Amino acid sequence: MFPRPKLQKQVVITQTQEDYLHTILRHVRGYLVVLDVEGVIIDVIETWLPITAIPKEKQIGVPLWQVGWWDGLPREQEQIKGEIARAAKGHSIRGSTRYHTVEGEERCNSYIFNPIIDEQGMVTQIVHQAFDITEHKRKEEELRHIFEMSLDIISVIDMEGRYIQVNPAFEKLLGYKPEDVIGRDSLDYVHPDDIKIKRTEIKRLRCGEAIHAAENRYRTKDGTYRWIAWSARPNLDEGVIYIVARNIDEQKAQEQLRDTFLSMASHELRTPLTGISTSLQMMRKRLKLLTPEEPEKLIETTDRLQKNLERAEQQVTAECRIINDIVDANRIARGQLAINPLPLDLICIVRQVIGDAQITNPERCFELTFPAEPYIPVIVDAMRISQVLDNILANAIKYSPDDQPVKINVEVNAKHVKVAVHDEGPGLTPEEQKRIWERFYQVPGRRIQGGPGGSMGLGLGLYICQTIISLHSGEIGVKSEPGQGSTFYFILPLNQM
Ligand code: ADP
Repeated sequence: MFPRPKLQKQVVITQTQEDYLHTILRHVRGYLVVLDVEGVIIDVIETWLPITAIPKEKQIGVPLWQVGWWDGLPREQEQIKGEIARAAKGHSIRGSTRYHTVEGEERCNSYIFNPIIDEQGMVTQIVHQAFDITEHKRKEEELRHIFEMSLDIISVIDMEGRYIQVNPAFEKLLGYKPEDVIGRDSLDYVHPDDIKIKRTEIKRLRCGEAIHAAENRYRTKDGTYRWIAWSARPNLDEGVIYIVARNIDEQKAQEQLRDTFLSMASHELRTPLTGISTSLQMMRKRLKLLTPEEPEKLIETTDRLQKNLERAEQQVTAECRIINDIVDANRIARGQLAINPLPLDLICIVRQVIGDAQITNPERCFELTFPAEPYIPVIVDAMRISQVLDNILANAIKYSPDDQPVKINVEVNAKHVKVAVHDEGPGLTPEEQKRIWERFYQVPGRRIQGGPGGSMGLGLGLYICQTIISLHSGEIGVKSEPGQGSTFYFILPLNQM
């Protein structure tokens, strides 16, 4: 058995080895020629197989750079000439170049020039081998475009977790330029609470395992943290790990909102139920104590039962309001909140809502101011407009002290009617005035001051009111100053038919 010749290294060949090499090389795909030290082709062992070749006889005796592969490419011809000159000095050369096929198509190859050195140490011939790498290059180029254009982060780290390469999205999302991070440990950017788990994940990757949709917080250049979801796949042969990652702050905020909402909703839904249950228990106890022998107690007990019933009714109303708010907010989110407008009198609607509020809050003082007109024609969905006024009124009752009046003012001009509700509550800062219309927003630390008590709400009421009023082509707003109370109002177009 002959020792295996290493083609990429300088080799000294004996006669028998040369025969052996020829046999092997005839099975090599690609372009394989033997040159003299001047670069003239003296033997063509194999020619391009995948593409149209230049006939062997047109190659023998011609300097390699003049064969035709580099016709019209003078720079490449110079390059090949230079490589041959270096190989003739005994160096083994690798490189790549453009070339032309006989049809004139431009392609790419990767080549080697290996000098053959005789026993005296002289270069006698040069073996030139080339492979077409056009498709490979094209794929590489495509991948480079994807890498550059990707909105997601693409990075390559070594097995120790150090960055080797990052794409432009990395800088866009985290603020670091490639030179800031290349060579640095990727763990340096991970939130301290996530390091332990990230370390375990890198260990798993090092063992060849792929990781799908892991989540960590990463520190950005300005010191804030962003949530990143990432997937990674190791290439153990190359000693690298490919990572694709994207920012999921939005999703995390939604999850947080959902969790807060669920815990608030369950709390808010439980509060009226607890009230109803207490009222029922008390009623049962009172009925149990009632005996025919003490008829004088009957009037007193009936009175108390009446109060328990009223309380339970208020709680049922509160419960229904929360459930309706959740259903409506859901409809709005799906774009499915619809109204059913009819020609109606707004004074009638306002009186009805205030009447109901007075029944549930018998002690509360409501001051009403109506215009002289006996009738205010509007085209509205009575149920939805009642809901808006009811919500604004309920807030005024809830957020202002019981001993303060709630003032309702209805004004009309040639085209519009304005309904305003003023309370003597804590008022709102300009920032709060902007945010109260957002879904789930509640002014931090705001306490219930008046009304029958119970539910805090879910921060959905005004969000729903805003949608309802805009569906009526109206306007809703607030005028307020901290410590000066608030005036919530809505304006609707008059029915001028
Ligand atoms: P909620 O059900 O929490 O009352 P709303 O959407 O009706 O939800 O109101 C949003 C927030 O706006 C309330 O949580 C409260 O902090 C604030 N707010 C609403 N009305 C008033 C008011 N009249 N006075 C002071 N703050 C108010």
